Amino acid sequence: MKQVAVLICGAGPVGLVAGLRLARAGIETLVIDKVSCVNDDFRASTFHPPTLEMLDELGLTQDLIAQGLVSPTWQIRQHESHAKALFDLSVLQGDTRYPFRLQCEQRVLTRLADAKAQTTANLQVRYGVELTGLTQEPNDVTATVNTPTGTETISARYLIAADGARSICRKLTGMTFTGETYPETTILVTTPYRFEDQLPGLSNVNYVWCEQGTFSLLRLPDIWRCSLYSDPNESIERALEPQAIERKLQRIVPRQEPYEIVEIRPYRIHRRLIDDYRAGRVLFAGDAAHLTSPSGGMGMNGGIHDAVNLSDKMIAVINQGAADELFNLYTRQRRPVAQDEILAQSHTNRMRMQRRDPAWRATEMARLQALIANPVSHREHLLKSSMISGLARAAATP
Ligand SMILES: Cc1cc2nc3c(=O)[nH]c(=O)nc-3n(C[C@H](O)[C@H](O)[C@H](O)COP(=O)(O)OP(=O)(O)OC[C@H]3O[C@@H](n4cnc5c(N)ncnc54)[C@H](O)[C@@H]3O)c2cc1C
Repeated sequence: MKQVAVLICGAGPVGLVAGLRLARAGIETLVIDKVSCVNDDFRASTFHPPTLEMLDELGLTQDLIAQGLVSPTWQIRQHESHAKALFDLSVLQGDTRYPFRLQCEQRVLTRLADAKAQTTANLQVRYGVELTGLTQEPNDVTATVNTPTGTETISARYLIAADGARSICRKLTGMTFTGETYPETTILVTTPYRFEDQLPGLSNVNYVWCEQGTFSLLRLPDIWRCSLYSDPNESIERALEPQAIERKLQRIVPRQEPYEIVEIRPYRIHRRLIDDYRAGRVLFAGDAAHLTSPSGGMGMNGGIHDAVNLSDKMIAVINQGAADELFNLYTRQRRPVAQDEILAQSHTNRMRMQRRDPAWRATEMARLQALIANPVSHREHLLKSSMISGLARAAATP
């Protein structure tokens, strides 16, 4: 049986960040992932300022910036009138070293973190290794894993469950994941078309109301990501047909030629939270603990904040002999932030964009513009939406 101090299930952004931090503190750590090579998911596209600060400690931020778009503003916009509420993160200059959102794909982070892991002492990342069972004893946890060469057991003092939305660790420990699945399917369409040349005053992150509903336009180097939705009375099967997608893109910018489409990906969104971030020697982080709408870009960022909080406590317990009750503080600090900040803000953002009533939209636009016009409320809003106040709240929780 292989023995390590900490076993991490899942080499997504959360598992890799936790692994790098623990290994740098001299803790022997093994990260396993069931996929056969580095996780190439392109899901997340926004990094918030505090996450960039955390990744800086691991020497990853400058490489991310080099492969992303520094985006000082984001906006909520009315398509037909071009009216907008423009949030400007440069007002956070005194609050963070990185007063901007970085538009960069999640897979850039997993690739960089995986490459760093290959040269980090005390850290091993094994792909093609799937956790299928676990048992807990008073002093350790033992995982059963399937590997390309057969079944193995791995024993560790602690297991970090960073195994994503469908977490097997959550199921094996019997944890409940309370919440709901939203009714709509989002259709993520990527195109190299240069919307910025046609739509005046776009930011790199735009949440847009239009007569027929809503869409968002998120820019990445060389590509735009458009989130589209079914029209009223249009089935998702119909909405996924190429002509339906073309029709919706033509509504954004009408053109003679058809749009070049790189990828179409439908996905459902959820709002769920685990009841406790700890099940004995198993600690949950990232999507295994909380799931939220991507509106506002907080899922991965919040998961990385979990990884940093948890790895600090793991270092205190393993290296400095702190009592492992310290892990209860991890739940006390991070769960309310997930509930009241990450899930709540993402839910509000989603609801705002789903509302169709023109009068409600006009009032909301005026409210947001007034909020931005006041430097105090503008900064407060950005501290929340950039996830800075959530971290401050966690740090102040005893
Ligand atoms: C369209 C979309 C856009 C998004 N945009 C943003 C954004 O802009 N900003 C943001 O912050 N978040 C965003 N998110 C959310 C973000 O993608 C997730 O929150 C993030 O991937 C969570 O990271 P994770 O490491 O917890 O889990 P994952 O990235 O899901 O990684 C979990 C890993 O565990 C592995 N695994 C699972 N089961 C096992 C097992 N039994 N054994 C071994 N390994 C296992 C999986 O293979 C996977 O590699 C978006 C999500 C979507 C769908």
